[in-house]
Amino acid sequence: MPFEALGLDPKIAKAVREAGYTEPTPIQTKAIPLVLRGHDVIGIAQTGTGKTAAFVLPILQRLSTRGSATNRRCMRALVIAPTRELVVQIEENVRKYARHLHLRIATVYGGVGERPQIQALRAGTEIVIATPGRLIDLMEQGHVDFSGLEVAVLDEADRMLDMGFLPAMRRIVKALPKQRQTMMFSASLSKEIETLTNEFLSNAEVVQIGRRANPAELVTQFVYETTKEAKLALLIHLLRDATLDSVLVFSRTKHGADKIARRLSSSGINTATLHSNRSQSQRIAALKAFKAGTVRVLVATDIAARGIDVEGISHVVNYDFPPQPEDYVHRIGRTGRAKAVGDAISFVTPDDRGNLRDLERFISRGIPRKVAEGFDASAYKALAPTMTSWRPSRPSAPRPQRPNTYASSRPQSRKDARPAHGPRPSAGGNGRAAVNSGPRFADRTRRRP
Ligand code: AMP
Repeated sequence: MPFEALGLDPKIAKAVREAGYTEPTPIQTKAIPLVLRGHDVIGIAQTGTGKTAAFVLPILQRLSTRGSATNRRCMRALVIAPTRELVVQIEENVRKYARHLHLRIATVYGGVGERPQIQALRAGTEIVIATPGRLIDLMEQGHVDFSGLEVAVLDEADRMLDMGFLPAMRRIVKALPKQRQTMMFSASLSKEIETLTNEFLSNAEVVQIGRRANPAELVTQFVYETTKEAKLALLIHLLRDATLDSVLVFSRTKHGADKIARRLSSSGINTATLHSNRSQSQRIAALKAFKAGTVRVLVATDIAARGIDVEGISHVVNYDFPPQPEDYVHRIGRTGRAKAVGDAISFVTPDDRGNLRDLERFISRGIPRKVAEGFDASAYKALAPTMTSWRPSRPSAPRPQRPNTYASSRPQSRKDARPAHGPRPSAGGNGRAAVNSGPRFADRTRRRP
């Protein structure tokens, strides 16, 4: 189906084509017509599904077709997103799709000077993309005029809640005109999100796209058992393989990220870091170099990497095991985006085992264990006995609930945990069964296509 068939203006459809997209993604097919008809929409979709274009394209349509001399220079659309990186990324999308329109676009986020942002708001801009904190700062200083606002978008609302932005979101939405169209996007439809929907949206249509929490669809996952002491050497060993050509490494801490980057750099591997101690310009430069391929490895913390969209990431490495199962899903969603395939590698130390088993329950599948060929782990510290993976068909082993962070975010039932469109854990015969099965496949490797 071409984009025009969704009711989009030819100028916008042309820009989309020029961006290389020939067909709308499922979230776009469902959401765009609803938004064009003026509905409030709640989109349950993760990054990687094309959700940004799902709200940006109809907003552009509204701004281009209903523009008049009187409302030309006032803020007509506001997009709120949790992180600066996401704001910059949404801005890139807006500029790409708006290239044949004459619209002013401004971004508002912290970590950089306020002056240029204030000037852009003063000069008049139709679209503003903002993080909540800085927007509130500028609202308090009287630089923000919402009187002509027609559309508001809350992107990654679940993440904004996690980051404690609820009061800020409430303050912003309260300041908006009552007569408006509102869209909210979230990776999942939790109780909190439902409450927010009732508060911020009216008669919203829900558009739900099969959870990309089905990581096995596109991403090959495996685990290396290791120790804290051996992790750095193991990473350097794995990076000898040239197929790991664009690698996003997740570290739990900023300090850890710096340490990994220093070691990789001193081993001759081009590495950059992305975390909140880096200045905004350093973060933008790091992402740019990674996207351009001049940096092979980007070491990031979860918050900094949230929502980043880099095409062609070949591997995600969970150097530190993710603190929540959702973080795992978000992290590995950085690879295997759109139609690409990617690998997700997790380092698991004896301390991470409980969390790994909980993760395997959460995603309803075992993650194959793998052994790094030619890597002498004993040089770093003897490995603890081999782990076994969780098997879906093991009814006699109910584990006592452990009071850890995974327990609270575990789906309520196995049924909930199973991705809507994914194969059942025990499914075989699809050529990728080895990836989705348990430890029997521990030593299998997969050739990249
Ligand atoms: P998002 O979910 O908005 O982060 O988008 C994920 C990726 O899909 C981005 O790289 C988009 O540029 C890309 N994308 C958006 N729309 C389409 C489409 N219709 N076909 C293929 N890729 C798309």
